[in-house]
Amino acid sequence: MTQFIQTQIAVIGAGIGGCIAALALSRHFDVVLIDQHTECPARIGECLPPAAGRILRELGLLEAFTRHQALHLPCHGIRSHWGSDACVMNDNLRNPDGPGWQLDRAGFENWLRQHVMASNVRCLWPARPVAVQQGRDGWLLQLHGETAESRSAVPCHFVIDASGRRSFFAAMLGIRRLALDKQVAIWASLACECDDRMATLSACEYGWWYSARLPGQRRVLALQTDADLLRHGLHLDDKRFFQMARTQKDIAGLLAASPAPQKQWQLHGKTSANTTRLKQVAGFRWAAIGDAACSFNPLSSQGMFNAMATAMQLAEQLVDTGLNHPEALTALSHTHSAQITSVWQRYLEHHRHYYLQEQRWPGMPYWQRRHHLQPLGI
Ligand SMILES: Cc1cc2nc3c(=O)[nH]c(=O)nc-3n(C[C@H](O)[C@H](O)[C@H](O)COP(=O)(O)OP(=O)(O)OC[C@H]3O[C@@H](n4cnc5c(N)ncnc54)[C@H](O)[C@@H]3O)c2cc1C
Repeated sequence: MTQFIQTQIAVIGAGIGGCIAALALSRHFDVVLIDQHTECPARIGECLPPAAGRILRELGLLEAFTRHQALHLPCHGIRSHWGSDACVMNDNLRNPDGPGWQLDRAGFENWLRQHVMASNVRCLWPARPVAVQQGRDGWLLQLHGETAESRSAVPCHFVIDASGRRSFFAAMLGIRRLALDKQVAIWASLACECDDRMATLSACEYGWWYSARLPGQRRVLALQTDADLLRHGLHLDDKRFFQMARTQKDIAGLLAASPAPQKQWQLHGKTSANTTRLKQVAGFRWAAIGDAACSFNPLSSQGMFNAMATAMQLAEQLVDTGLNHPEALTALSHTHSAQITSVWQRYLEHHRHYYLQEQRWPGMPYWQRRHHLQPLGI
């Protein structure tokens, strides 16, 4: 039996972008939020930039978030070894929005999901779209739940693709992604008792290392490099991974400060960390937000903010436009595309600027590729 769940707006993906969009839209529309996972799986601990506090405040969540201390530590900035051996501090002390937050990333996403569930949004998980049909005034999404027998059909007037780097809905429409590089991150976590409130970034000949304190007396450690430059099986070999980390002077110091025995170190594997963009980020009665629209190098520390900001912008436009006027919805798709293009172009300028600052290994493929990056003609 297929269950019919009629709604106005279907949001695919209950990551940060999807949750923020669902929360902002739930005040004005009937919304369904769909995710393949019942809860957020383990994710690398990330830094939420200070400006994200404004969006949380707008949604009435900032106070509850600030009080929920198990979710975050203050992030006072970044100490980077980039371009030379010297250590450059980029602190948040004078940032008008205050310090950022070093997140228990999965915890944060699950906390957002709880707020979505407490609003009027109907949450469908685990569920994923398996087919889509376009009608005159909307879409029909066919979903499969945990088993192929648990099926539902969601007729709706607008679809938001918030499914992250795979941009699942756009892919079902046949829209391709463009990638600028093949960067991946191999990441680990380990016990840590020191009270270091700065994140550390350190360039090396094959990429760069990142480490930061996390809530719950943990530290995250990640290596960013290109998939084809990785030593075979490194993401499965914790001994080799930690040995490599110790050869990096600035990172070795942080690891030495961790008193934990080796068994408290956990290698989580590898994940995509490249710069990508959908060729088309919106169309009639659909739009992509967050990583689904464009995904950034973690060096920028802007991915989560971008997911939140694009979700809020799109929600505001939908509230203004409504769902009944085709011309206005066409205009909305153009405005959204123009906004994403402008963010993307600014991001590319920053990307180029930062990578050109590091000239210590001009012959190494990781750096050569970034110094001669061909901007995508879109
Ligand atoms: C190594 C690394 C470090 C990073 N560090 C930072 C940082 O410090 N600061 C920062 O701001 N950003 C950082 N980022 C970027 C940040 O993680 C992303 O930009 C952010 O998670 C994007 O959120 P999103 O909601 O758009 O997508 P996602 O978080 O990817 O969420 C997508 C959701 O869609 C669901 N989904 C996918 N496919 C389907 C499907 N077919 N059906 C149903 N559901 C589906 C997924 O389960 C998921 O819940 C980092 C990224 C990486 C890789």
